[in-house]
Amino acid sequence: MTIDVSAILKETGGRIDIDDNVMLSDTDFLGGTYHFSEPVRIKGHISNNGKSLILKALCEGSMTTQCARCAKSINVPVSFEIDENLIREDSGEAEDIAPDGDAVIFGGAEIDMTDILADSFLMNIEGKYLCSEDCKGLCPICGKDLNEGECDCSKDNIDPRWSALLDIMNKDNN
Ligand SMILES: [Zn+2]
Ligand SMILES: [Zn+2]
Repeated sequence: MTIDVSAILKETGGRIDIDDNVMLSDTDFLGGTYHFSEPVRIKGHISNNGKSLILKALCEGSMTTQCARCAKSINVPVSFEIDENLIREDSGEAEDIAPDGDAVIFGGAEIDMTDILADSFLMNIEGKYLCSEDCKGLCPICGKDLNEGECDCSKDNIDPRWSALLDIMNKDNN
């Protein structure tokens, strides 16, 4: 999704309202997988402050990801704000601000909202999404989902099946 800002490029105080739905593609990021089955709603505006364009918007939707403890697939709400400086590449301001990376440089008169939204989403990912606050997670030894009940592993012993295997391997070595 792109927004044509030609109407406000030269008009200080000019403003374009945004109320749209943007489909984000599935994303793998730092070990997590994020799947969007419906578009994210973006609501806000782009305004010209005389120096650059300012994009302020609220994005809301939902996505499917995995519980950080038990890896179960969960649907979680997505909600984040975008507050971004948009600077035209030939405006003379671009060289000053670009190295900091805190501005979006654009050419022509079209702003690619999908890119901005996808980047903002990554910056707003929470470290851990959980299926529930008290998720017990998986047994580190046998991998059983401990939310469904205790397993037979004792905390300081390895799985008996593994120890049997280790016995066989030790015999082979001797
Ligand atoms: Zn869980
Ligand atoms: Zn276990």
